[in-house]
Amino acid sequence: MKIPQNGEFGYAGRYAPSPSGYLHFGNASTALVAWLRARSENGRFFLRVEDTDPQRSKPEFAAAAQEDLRWMGLDWDGPVEFQSMRTEGYQAALERLNQKGLVFACRCTRKDLQAAVDGAVRAPHGAEDLGPHYPGTCAPLGLPLNGPYTVRAQGDGFPVRRADGAWAYTLAVVVDDASSGITEVVRGSDLESATPQQEQLFAALDCVPPKYLHAPLWMGPDGQRLSKRHGAVSLRDWQASGRTAEELVGRLAWGLGLLEEPIPVRPRDLLQDFAWDRLRKTPVPASDYLPLAP
Ligand code: GLU
Repeated sequence: MKIPQNGEFGYAGRYAPSPSGYLHFGNASTALVAWLRARSENGRFFLRVEDTDPQRSKPEFAAAAQEDLRWMGLDWDGPVEFQSMRTEGYQAALERLNQKGLVFACRCTRKDLQAAVDGAVRAPHGAEDLGPHYPGTCAPLGLPLNGPYTVRAQGDGFPVRRADGAWAYTLAVVVDDASSGITEVVRGSDLESATPQQEQLFAALDCVPPKYLHAPLWMGPDGQRLSKRHGAVSLRDWQASGRTAEELVGRLAWGLGLLEEPIPVRPRDLLQDFAWDRLRKTPVPASDYLPLAP
């Protein structure tokens, strides 16, 4: 199989939701920005469901995400990709990393790691991902990769496969961005700190990394990233209250700095004037732009 190299067919972008709940305004904003960026470059745009975590992923949320994105007026090219169907690619990547001596099995528990790195900051993708604070206790032990252990990358020890066999975000996202020939990743700013590890993995797999761009996050009134504890923040809640997709898209674009006022629009109405530099650079206080019903 020929793997398209970056840039071979022009711009390729993607939106990659995790189906662990209904899409909320923050997710919708990121999807809108990623779509605007890809379509304003006349690029291809893919949808990839990041369902590697069997405990948190639900097929009904994946189906709802597709419906909600279409309802907003977004579209994508080709079939939706599901990470749960792509485990062979992850296994092949793991074998390649192992041949290069770049991974090892680790039997430390979360507690061991937390204790070893007292005071380490919690990384966005879980306590096992400790970046420069990773103590590396198991690296020299040579434990078998196929045992009930977490497989980690040498160096900062980010997880590649969990002890329960689930593929870790960093490996799956890199393998998929590489094999889909993604030239530019647009995602939320919460994942900005994950970028160096992903670039490192691209290099380890002898692939060219995409360009990474990060869209502003939406914040609740408490200054925390918007989530369902902030009330009726899902697209399903919005639909249930009888409001239109055009109003939501207009308000998202207003908060993002793409509109001067919240006029109802379709995503395609925003294409003409879209430019990355017009996006707001700071997090968006959701309650200034959207009604957050309790
Ligand atoms: N699945 C991730 C999320 O929903 C996005 C990952 C990415 O875009 O790299 O936050």
